[in-house]
Amino acid sequence: MGVDLTVPGPGWQVGFHLRVAGFRDKLLSIMVALNTLVQPPASAEGFSADAASRTDLAAAIRRLKKERNAVILAHNYQIGEIQDVADYVGDSLGLSYHAQKTDADVIVFCGVHFMAETAKIVNPTKTVILPDLDAGCSLSESCPPEKLAAFLERNADKNYYVIAYINCSAGVKALSDVIVTSGNAIKIVEAAPADRNILFVPDQNLGGWVMEKTGRKMDLWQGNCYVHVEFTRQSIERIRDQYPDAPVVAHPECTFAVRLLADEVCSTEKMISYCRDHEANAFIIVTEGGMLHRLRKEVPGKLFIAGPTDHCACADCRFMKMNTLEKLHDALLHLSPEITMPEEIRARAEKPILRMLEQSR
Ligand code: SF4
Repeated sequence: MGVDLTVPGPGWQVGFHLRVAGFRDKLLSIMVALNTLVQPPASAEGFSADAASRTDLAAAIRRLKKERNAVILAHNYQIGEIQDVADYVGDSLGLSYHAQKTDADVIVFCGVHFMAETAKIVNPTKTVILPDLDAGCSLSESCPPEKLAAFLERNADKNYYVIAYINCSAGVKALSDVIVTSGNAIKIVEAAPADRNILFVPDQNLGGWVMEKTGRKMDLWQGNCYVHVEFTRQSIERIRDQYPDAPVVAHPECTFAVRLLADEVCSTEKMISYCRDHEANAFIIVTEGGMLHRLRKEVPGKLFIAGPTDHCACADCRFMKMNTLEKLHDALLHLSPEITMPEEIRARAEKPILRMLEQSR
C-alpha cells in the first residue's frame, strides 16, 4: 500500500513529496546526502572518529586550505593526522624559514602559541591562525618578559648580549639580541660578540648543552621544558638495557644526565638524517612522542622506540596535543583564532629573528 510521505525542508534543505512504499529509510539517507551537498560548510564537530569520517575531514581541510589560499605549517610534535594534512612539517628553524617565505594569504600554524607568534612577527600583513589559542608552552612561560626586563635592569652593568631560544614569547624576543633554535644554537653562539657577557634564555638545558659544545661561558635562565625533563637517567638506562644495539638519540632540552647517555644529541630535524644515514635498524628516540610519526614515515623500515619517562611509555606535550583535526578545520573555516600583537613589540621582536635567519643560512 502506498504511503504519502512528505518531507519538507526549510532554508537550504530540500523538500520531497513521494508516494513510495517502504522507502522511508532510503529517503532519509538521501536527505542526509543532499544536505551534505547543499548546506553551507559545517562545523567539524559533525565529523566522528571513524576512519571514513577522518578522511572526509582531512579532505574538507584541504579544500578549505585552497579556498583560503592558506598554508598549513606543522611542528614535528603535532599529532600524526595533522602532520599528514600539513604542507610542511618541521622543527622551529624550518618552520620559521617557511613562514618567512610563504606567499599564502593565511598561515595556519599547528604548533604552540610562541610558534604562531613567530610566524606573525615575520609576516605582519598575513593572517596567522592557531587552531587552539590555549596551546602554550611551559618553557616559554618560565620566562615572562617583565621578569626578564627587571633582571636586565638589575644587571645593567653586565651589558648582556641576550640570546633567546625561539621557545619564548614575542615580549622576550623583543628584549633579545638574537634568537636561536636547537638546530642553529651552536653556530649562533659561536658568532656572538667575544667581548660581551651572554645571557641565554629560557632553557637551562639547551643552554648547558651549547656551553659544552662551544666552550663559551653563558649565564643561563633557569627555565625548562616540562616534557623533556621527565626523561631520567634510570628510565633511559632501562630501555637501553632492553635494546642494547639501538643508539639513543636525545633532544638537547633533556637534562645533562640524560644527554650523557645519548649517542647523539640533536634537533628534531637532525634526528631524521641521523637515523636515515646510520647503519643501525633501531633507535631510542628521547623527545616528545609526536616525532615518532615523522620518523616512521620518512625513514621506513627502521624501528623507532619511544624513550620512556619514569611513569609513561612515551612523552606527549599536553600543549602540542591541544590542536586537533577538528580545531584545524574550524580555524580554517572561521579564520580564527587569529594571532595579533602590538606593532611596537612585533617590530622589536622581528630584528633578532631576522638576525638568526641571516646567521644560520
Ligand atoms: S614540548 Fe616543551 S618546549 Fe615544546 S611546546 Fe611542549 S612544553 Fe614547550
